[in-house]
Amino acid sequence: MAKLGFLGLGAMGAPMAARLIEAGHQLTVWNRTPSKAEAFEGRAALAGSPADATRGVEAAITMLATPDALSEVVFGDDGVTSGIEPGTTLIEMSTVGADHVLELHGRLPDGVALIDAPVLGSVSNAVDGTLQIFVGGSEESFARWRDLLAAMGTPIHLGPTGAGAAMKLVANSTLAGLMSLVGEALALADGFGLDQGRVIPALLDSPIGPALSRKLDKIEGDHYAPSFKLSLMLKDMRLVLDAARRRRVELTLAEGAARWIDQAEDDGLGGYDYSVVVAHIRGRKATG
Ligand code: NAP
Repeated sequence: MAKLGFLGLGAMGAPMAARLIEAGHQLTVWNRTPSKAEAFEGRAALAGSPADATRGVEAAITMLATPDALSEVVFGDDGVTSGIEPGTTLIEMSTVGADHVLELHGRLPDGVALIDAPVLGSVSNAVDGTLQIFVGGSEESFARWRDLLAAMGTPIHLGPTGAGAAMKLVANSTLAGLMSLVGEALALADGFGLDQGRVIPALLDSPIGPALSRKLDKIEGDHYAPSFKLSLMLKDMRLVLDAARRRRVELTLAEGAARWIDQAEDDGLGGYDYSVVVAHIRGRKATG
């Protein structure tokens, strides 16, 4: 069993850390808002800073909102790099994209290894340990940490450092596109004056059925309590479009989906689940 630091106990990080504890690992946890770390009192050691959470551990795991948050936690005052020692692995699980992972890799102290291991799935998958985990890093690092990652889901090795983060953006570009398509299809049905009670069962049998079915309760009830916040999806779509631009890849559909999500954020919907984009496209009022 490993001695680990875990940084970032948000909607995803808290259940992921809980699974590692249940699997028998010894955790020191840190979160910017201390109350979320205090909820682990008695199950994990509580650290006063990112540096304290990473001193003397075999691996430090980060699960943070954005690239800026990651940079602050790793390189800021009393950050991870002030505590981490040679021989330690940093396991980066946030969604920050391949370019930020490679930048992070270049700035880590000598002797600190990095694997990127962002996740696909939602809070319920984090709770029951059924996330898909896209891993980038050397064969040796993957072999060393595969069993630990398996406590949180299914680790899949995509290639060298950055490959896991790249795969995560590929996967999320499809999620935003599909949810926008659901919104546009329902908006068109509204325009025809069709009855939602008959349209939805028909769409469930269509190619976008799986995307609709995953968020059916929210869409039918216009209640969008967050599982994956729209503001985080907007961050992901900006990462997708930026990565595509840098590689001269044209993404017309993803650009359209990002525009819908951007508008929904401007309408004050960023704290709701990202599927609220459906209500936004239909011009319907959403609640939490
Ligand atoms: P969340 O609930 O908003 O939690 C975000 C975490 O980042 C919190 O611990 C937060 O600390 C911390 N944080 C934000 N800004 C910070 C800063 N400047 N300095 C230090 N800490 C900071 O988000 P989440 O849903 O757990 O998502 C975490 C990551 O996983 C994101 O990259 C997201 O895109 C990705 N993801 C999410 C889902 C999902 O379904 N939710 C699924 C797959 C991947 P505080 O508690 O102090 O705010």
